[in-house]
Amino acid sequence: MSEPWREGEVAVLKRSGAPSVLLRVLSGAQPIGVDGVIDLSNQIGREPGGEVVWLGSEHRLLRPSLSDQIASVRRGAQIVTPKDAVYLAYLAGVQPGGRVAEAGAGSGALTIALATAVGPGGRVTTYERRADFLEAARQNVRRAGLDDRVTFRERDVVRDGLDVEDVGSVLLDLPEPWEVLASARGALAFGGWVATYTPTYNQLERTVRTLRTLRYDEVRAVELIERSLHVGEGGTRPDFDMLGHTGFLACGRKVD
Ligand code: SAH
Repeated sequence: MSEPWREGEVAVLKRSGAPSVLLRVLSGAQPIGVDGVIDLSNQIGREPGGEVVWLGSEHRLLRPSLSDQIASVRRGAQIVTPKDAVYLAYLAGVQPGGRVAEAGAGSGALTIALATAVGPGGRVTTYERRADFLEAARQNVRRAGLDDRVTFRERDVVRDGLDVEDVGSVLLDLPEPWEVLASARGALAFGGWVATYTPTYNQLERTVRTLRTLRYDEVRAVELIERSLHVGEGGTRPDFDMLGHTGFLACGRKVD
């Protein structure tokens, strides 16, 4: 038995033959995509998984997973892919109830992964220097239903640094992460981790050099390569198409 729908909760509508959409369980008609309106009044108090008839077809209303939430992000800035986002959270030691700082917010895809990892008792502060991107991130995080655990700050962190203290994790996805590593060290609690995401080797080298210079501990760098498989009875093999490159991850720990 799963919890019945409460009014205002975020749900995912699984549509046959069309992409899933995130929406709220509300009483009364609400707009949905560019397609029209939908009324979910009769779902309130019912269990997830029920059929919803919309535009003459049957669909299912489910509780969203992280994959639904990230897939629904509207992109302005280039987003971190799920494989990198969840591993960045691992490298940075993000945990339930944790306090996390992140820059830049971009489209908020990594923010959604971090807000999920800290859970309802945690806090993510995300910095972004562009007001339009900050607003886009805020809308994406709100659509995912996670905005109550995220603080959005318009700030150039290369120029002005991070204005938080005692956080367990700092995540950096911006062009010059090395410029923020000293400030990140100040923001971190002892034992806390910084993790960075950079698309080029040149950026990675400079980042790791600075991590070492600033005496971060347990410094390492890693690249994740994801290859999806076509599974057919008696004909299982790797898919022909593959995303060849996303970015390099690095991390370091504040010990003294
Ligand atoms: N991780 C994000 C994407 C970040 S793209 C996601 O998954 O959606 C990098 C972002 O860093 C851009 O939005 C850019 O505006 C921002 N940025 C670049 N330099 C910055 C700085 N000095 N301070 C704050 N944000 C910065």
